Amino acid sequence: MSGRILAVANQKGGVGKTTTAINLAACLAEAGARTLVVDLDPQANATSGLGEQANGSSSYDLLDGAPLEELVHATRFANLDLVPSRPELAGAAVELARESEGETFLADSVSPARERYDYVFVDCPPALGPLTVNALAAADRVLVPVQCEYYALEGLAQLLTSVELVRSRLNPRLALTGMLITMVDARTRLAADVAGELRRQFGELVFDAVVPRSVRLAEAPSHGLPITVYDPTSAGADAYYRVANELVDRS
Ligand code: ADP
Ligand code: MG
Repeated sequence: MSGRILAVANQKGGVGKTTTAINLAACLAEAGARTLVVDLDPQANATSGLGEQANGSSSYDLLDGAPLEELVHATRFANLDLVPSRPELAGAAVELARESEGETFLADSVSPARERYDYVFVDCPPALGPLTVNALAAADRVLVPVQCEYYALEGLAQLLTSVELVRSRLNPRLALTGMLITMVDARTRLAADVAGELRRQFGELVFDAVVPRSVRLAEAPSHGLPITVYDPTSAGADAYYRVANELVDRS
């Protein structure tokens, strides 16, 4: 079976995209799947969160047509590779918008990853701009982290419209793997309300497992570690293991 490319996307910042990309990748890598994270956010949080540096070659070069194998770095974690980001990627967004075919640069260059990896996670920036469009055009599946907050559903319709546009214009393979509810404070009424509303609107598309708000998940990236290494018995790790299992069943 050839590998799957998953875009982790939501134009809102701070909803758990990077945390989800890093930790799902780590769970699957630990289980023996060959896994790649492509950091497509100029903020390079996935890069630093995996203990790597945001300098040298990067996803910027991937968009520039450099071969994937020259840009992949092995991380300290078995089966887990990374194409890092660096701040210059911010300029790529402008350049891409000017190019014809600028929406499919990533698709062209990341496509060979399907032969070498079981799962490729593309960590998107918090915008529906050219970088995210490139990620959607390259992906087989979209995973949407949704922060459990009062405004959780705001912006989701716009995101789904973008997914639909990319599917119809650029990438007929693209499908929604699902929405993952993150930063859940289970003790609150709000958590139940938000989860209930999402499940009413989107049904089966919402992952059964939810990710709790967890200090350990927030601390792990400052040590350059996924939660599977930083605190494998924490509630946050447990949640991402369960999400990873669901993802395998869904994809
Ligand atoms: P995004 O990539 O969507 O901008 P991040 O994954 O970087 O979001 O998360 C935003 C912030 O919230 C980060 O500081 C991260 O460490 C923290 N965070 C993410 N998920 C959780 C969680 N489940 N519990 C507590 N903090 C979290
Ligand atoms: Mg991020």
